[in-house]
Amino acid sequence: MIHDTIAAIATPPGMGGIGIIRISGDQALSVISGLFGKTLKGPMDCHHLESHRVVHGYIFHPQENIVLDEVLVIPMLAPRSYTRENVVEIHAHAGPMVMRAILECIITQDIRLAEPGEFTKRAFLNNRIDLTQAEAISDIISARSTASMKIAAAQATGNLKETITQGRGMLISLLTLIEAAIDFPDEGDELISKKQFLEQIDGVIAICKQGIKTYEDGHFLRDGIKLAICGPPNVGKSSLMNCLLESERSIVTAIPGTTRDLIEEGINIDGVPFVISDTAGMHNTKDPVEQIGIKKAKDNIARADMVLFMKTAGEEISAQEIHAIAPSHEKVIIVFNKMDLMPLDFTPQLPENLQNIPHALISARKVRGVQDLKRQILAISAADQTDPTSVIPNLRHKIALEKTKTTLCCARQNLIHHREEETLAIDIRMAAESLGEITGDTAEIDILDKIFSQFCIGK
Ligand code: GDP
Repeated sequence: MIHDTIAAIATPPGMGGIGIIRISGDQALSVISGLFGKTLKGPMDCHHLESHRVVHGYIFHPQENIVLDEVLVIPMLAPRSYTRENVVEIHAHAGPMVMRAILECIITQDIRLAEPGEFTKRAFLNNRIDLTQAEAISDIISARSTASMKIAAAQATGNLKETITQGRGMLISLLTLIEAAIDFPDEGDELISKKQFLEQIDGVIAICKQGIKTYEDGHFLRDGIKLAICGPPNVGKSSLMNCLLESERSIVTAIPGTTRDLIEEGINIDGVPFVISDTAGMHNTKDPVEQIGIKKAKDNIARADMVLFMKTAGEEISAQEIHAIAPSHEKVIIVFNKMDLMPLDFTPQLPENLQNIPHALISARKVRGVQDLKRQILAISAADQTDPTSVIPNLRHKIALEKTKTTLCCARQNLIHHREEETLAIDIRMAAESLGEITGDTAEIDILDKIFSQFCIGK
């Protein structure tokens, strides 16, 4: 049981119309009793305030007895609150000094400052939400595109939780039957037939496979489609990168972990997130520094979901040179740049074996043809073929689904060939545990701490 009461400023720092301070825990009503009054006469007893009813009044400094701000207070009594504890929100004016002054008055009453994500952690520990919903709340806050926001919002409603809970429920029912069969060996076959058993296991394997497939098909909508700009030196790769970013500058975000020689930026094309990288120009060089850059570029291209292969318009292009740089990529667009230097009626001559690869004609310098290139990028990304409101697991979920699937495949083999019930019970229990890691039912405390530490303070 959690007994201490926590408080934090829940709105971003800085100046604004409204700033919210949130308090959660047993002491929430006592705390505001010392600070809040409906009239200018001073603080009042707040223990009997009606739940979920906004009250207008003033926050008083408890020692100096002066008014700090005119506020609205919303008490949300347990269990009908975000954390399932008594929660009080103070809606004050969002100035850094006034917010801090109110928070200080709260903290001096033996109330602890909340850690990052601690309100949501309490919601999880008090069984209001599961771990997938908690992660979804963090994803909603940090979403950088419409698509990733929709995925997170769908997950917050509990769609992933329902699927996983259903699978885990099937495994737990099986486990109960196997344990009964171990205890009463003569009735084993009557308790559950091999056919029923296999049906249940296959049902959960199907849930895992479906989850892994949707991760593979749709994770780019969460994480951004990796788009590498590559080609020989001086064809205009950096210019195109800047050009793409410039037109989207207001929603550009730096991706952490970039290296000095490989530039990566996140952009948003029609609500679909992309992570664009500008790679070192590919050519034969003896310069060791350049060689390192080229090696990094190749690794980056190998990881990319999509490649823009740039050439200067008018220069020859061959399938071999594309293959040398992006050997296994299905999603390639050839981008002919510097069209401003070419006659208006110029059309590139593509060799026969490149005719089915899409191509775009642009001038990065004059920002021409870039909208058409973006349309082509979106078209081959197939982003519209993934429903962002469907269940799309994240990498942590996918790893747990794979573990569950592998364990269940072992259990299946055991059932078909030996039917050793003790080993079967161990496998089914392990599978149920790895599914439970997704919803948080069986997650280790360090996994929980890691997830909640990624939240912002006040959430
Ligand atoms: P990178 O080495 O492939 O990254 O190429 P850069 O973007 O650094 O460009 C190389 C040179 O080509 C620079 O002098 C650019 O100004 C020039 N350049 C880039 N795009 C265009 C274009 O569309 N038209 C013309 N005429 N020059 C360009």
